[in-house]
Amino acid sequence: MRAEADRLLGETEAAPARSGAKATFSLERTGVAAMALGIVERCLELSLQHARDRVQFGRPIGEFQLIQDKLARMEVARMNLQNLVFRQIELAGRGRAPTFAEASAMKLYAARAATEVALEAVQVFGGNGYMAEYQVEQLARDAKVLQIYAGTDEIQISAIARDLLAR
Ligand SMILES: Cc1cc2nc3c(=O)[nH]c(=O)nc-3n(C[C@H](O)[C@H](O)[C@H](O)COP(=O)(O)OP(=O)(O)OC[C@H]3O[C@@H](n4cnc5c(N)ncnc54)[C@H](O)[C@@H]3O)c2cc1C
Repeated sequence: MRAEADRLLGETEAAPARSGAKATFSLERTGVAAMALGIVERCLELSLQHARDRVQFGRPIGEFQLIQDKLARMEVARMNLQNLVFRQIELAGRGRAPTFAEASAMKLYAARAATEVALEAVQVFGGNGYMAEYQVEQLARDAKVLQIYAGTDEIQISAIARDLLAR
């Protein structure tokens, strides 16, 4: 049978530029940023504890500047992600949705930051970090998939540029 436009679910699918689907994608993409924040917070927590506890060459590894650099970068990523997520919550509270470029940019940044932080957490743990018994290995896999589902990084980049160029 032939269904007319008034039979469409959601009633927005016929609108220009698939606005109904885009609104759903935006929600999913901003949600990924919140997941990334959780991953980064846990990586930082575990890495700080390990940097205090693990002694090599007679000193806790947290005293080595190269380890400190990793911890500092994790904190920067955590703050950036928290700012993004809290801004999003505030906007939603005022009934405002992010633009499609903003939602996609948030997902792109969040997924990359979480992956970078989680891989550095594995590094802070050394050989143990690579083992399934330690949580950072799981966190690294959880972070990496954020770059793949809900639209890969490459698709986010196209979405950001297309949305900006269409204005
Ligand atoms: C754990 C997990 C959970 C998932 N959950 C869901 C789910 O709930 N619902 C759902 O629908 N899907 C889900 N997926 C599927 C996910 O959305 C796809 O894996 C993802 O969209 C990539 O598609 P693909 O695997 O076919 O890779 P491909 O499309 O084969 O991509 C391979 C590479 O080519 C790049 N590429 C492809 N097309 C382009 C292009 N046009 N421009 C530039 N680069 C391009 C990709 O970015 C990627 O780097 C899930 C995947 C995983 C791993």
